[in-house]
Amino acid sequence: MSDTKVYLLDGGSLILDGYHVFWNRGPGGEIRFPVYSILIEHAEGRFLIDTGYDYDHVMKVLPFEKPQQTKEQTIPGALGLLGLEPKDVGVVFNSHFHFDHCGGNKYFPHAKKICHKLEVPQTCKPEPFEMLGYSDVSFSAEAAEARGMTDQLLEGTTRANSTFEGIEGDIELAKGVKLFFTPGHSIGHYSLLVEFGTRAPILFTIDAAYTQKSLETLCQASFHIDPVAGVASMRRVKQLAEDHEAELMFSHDMENFKTYKTGTQFYG
Ligand SMILES: [Zn+2]
Repeated sequence: MSDTKVYLLDGGSLILDGYHVFWNRGPGGEIRFPVYSILIEHAEGRFLIDTGYDYDHVMKVLPFEKPQQTKEQTIPGALGLLGLEPKDVGVVFNSHFHFDHCGGNKYFPHAKKICHKLEVPQTCKPEPFEMLGYSDVSFSAEAAEARGMTDQLLEGTTRANSTFEGIEGDIELAKGVKLFFTPGHSIGHYSLLVEFGTRAPILFTIDAAYTQKSLETLCQASFHIDPVAGVASMRRVKQLAEDHEAELMFSHDMENFKTYKTGTQFYG
């Protein structure tokens, strides 16, 4: 924990309308927002939290989100900046399976994979209004088979090497790496707290709050399975930040993201 380092892997950006980012509040108009993954170098191993979006998938299925992603902003590219390859990551944890959080999972057939126990079943059978969110099923042979979308799977992806360990409730993934169950945005959504030896902990809201303004106004995104649970989770995130005296980091907040350390810079 004292030598824990956190790297943010810049995954490029996407666009949504303001009424999607700030549900029923807006204002409307295009908002470009960042997508990133979190690499944790820890005494117990190398953990990757989420894997960004796949450019080709977005261009094929959601081109209206106007993806911008350089080679360095793909998962192999971002790891390459650190002198790493996907095989160097031991554990992949997904906060949930929206396409902008699991697009790079396919590069990790060797890794141990963990998620909330309800997220894979939900990807196999999403609600009608969740179809676009759960449109990239390349992370799971089980989900791809259930949806009749096995064409998305990379050659070599099998049930055996794309199976997840399902968890529930709050879990400590490794010493000082804490997952807090914050459902609402998705059925099994998690937020993440990382503790360090010398600096304040960082609380990653993930998609419980896309932006600082979202949390301040308790205004969630229009993508959710249970908005009432979503509000409760936002309140919980606020309380967790207070209790742990943690620095908050938001998942899709361009203004704040510009101040975050990325590339070879790290927190720790
Ligand atoms: Zn999401």
